[in-house]
Amino acid sequence: MTARRRPNPPITRSRVAIVGANFGGLRAAQELGSGFDVTVFDPSPWFEWLPNIHELVSQAKRPADLRLPRKRLVAAAGHRFVRDAVTAIDAKRGTLTTAGGAVHAFDFCIVATGGINATYGVRGVERYALPFRSVEHCDVIGRRLAALMKGRKPRSVVIAGGGFAGVEALGEILRRYRSRDNLTLHIVEAGPGLMWGVSPKIDAAVRRHVRAYDVQIHVRSPVAAITPTGVRLQGGRRLRSDLTIWTGGNVAPPLLHAARLAPKPLQWAPVDATLRSRRHDNVFVIGDAAALPVAVPKQAFHALEMGECAAANVRRAAAGRPLRRYRPSRTPLLLAFGDLDTFLVAGRSVVANPALAAGKEAVYQVTMAQIDPPSNVHALGQLASRVIGVTRRLAPPR
Ligand SMILES: Cc1cc2nc3c(=O)[nH]c(=O)nc-3n(C[C@H](O)[C@H](O)[C@H](O)COP(=O)(O)OP(=O)(O)OC[C@H]3O[C@@H](n4cnc5c(N)ncnc54)[C@H](O)[C@@H]3O)c2cc1C
Repeated sequence: MTARRRPNPPITRSRVAIVGANFGGLRAAQELGSGFDVTVFDPSPWFEWLPNIHELVSQAKRPADLRLPRKRLVAAAGHRFVRDAVTAIDAKRGTLTTAGGAVHAFDFCIVATGGINATYGVRGVERYALPFRSVEHCDVIGRRLAALMKGRKPRSVVIAGGGFAGVEALGEILRRYRSRDNLTLHIVEAGPGLMWGVSPKIDAAVRRHVRAYDVQIHVRSPVAAITPTGVRLQGGRRLRSDLTIWTGGNVAPPLLHAARLAPKPLQWAPVDATLRSRRHDNVFVIGDAAALPVAVPKQAFHALEMGECAAANVRRAAAGRPLRRYRPSRTPLLLAFGDLDTFLVAGRSVVANPALAAGKEAVYQVTMAQIDPPSNVHALGQLASRVIGVTRRLAPPR
């Protein structure tokens, strides 16, 4: 007698929703294999390489150098890309809702939304200052500056914020326009020095570099308001400005609190050492959006690593295995000051050397090629034009 064969049980793949597809979210998608039914949500069609967006200000790089098409990258990983913002996450029900009104069910959700511009309630920021957080923002700044600097009229540019982004913005403006005698640059910082939280060495080096140019550094000078014609500092001083750049910092997007992942508005979402939300077992939060038990600097490299760890932990959770802890690597940061200098920052130690610019460029080229491996003709073409175009524009004029 032949035994009757039982039909195979249906293989149900766990449904994974990934909210945000830049460093952390995209890497998580690329690490999750075909054993999962993965949908990736992001309102923007482009992956953006944010660590080099300052170079759009001097037009040393072009938007296309810093962007990759998300749909192709997500499809290459075997998943679905939905170009829409997530407006609500109901972790208890395992559903999320998008701005377009779609409701999507998940077993696990990876939240990788990054942050938004911090304005500290300063009047006029959103209306009169240009933000500095995306490829589009910095491209707009680069084009507005180029238009402003066409004539010989005296011009004044104010950079609000003397942190990482503010110093990089100042360096790029000097890269392109330092030979012009009709430009006054102001950089305004609330704290006692530029990049003060990292090391006073950077403040001292920047001051040395700008001595020969019309650059005014205002420290201990919180901004009170931005107006159509300038910037008012607390204490009443006014700086005339033809173009104001706002680099105020990074706070949590409203979704984190609305989804009950963060206790208060503007706060990051607390996670345990495995990157699992403290509030919902089926949600992992990674990259800038996550508040870890021991704080990790908000850097692209850490977001990539967290994407890998979250993907591994979704696999483990789906298989009922214990989760692994996220162990951040010690990665130095490279801060560019145009073509005048580059700072290698490791904790509170700083090394300054213009030759380090090649290191920053190499990190960009290599990581972009890892994110979009040249396995097809589109990726190979994009890699070639990135390398050739950028090399040409960064080369000193002959
Ligand atoms: C000007 C600047 C310079 C920087 N320089 C460096 C540097 O030199 N080195 C370094 O390591 N780091 C640098 N960083 C920090 C680095 O870019 C961040 O740490 C990194 O981008 C964080 O990655 P992430 O994936 O967490 O978030 P992000 O890269 O911010 O990506 C978040 C994604 O989520 C999407 N999203 C947001 N809300 C929603 C929603 N509701 N629904 C769906 N999608 C959503 C966004 O569209 C975006 O694509 C810099 C940042 C800035 C702004």
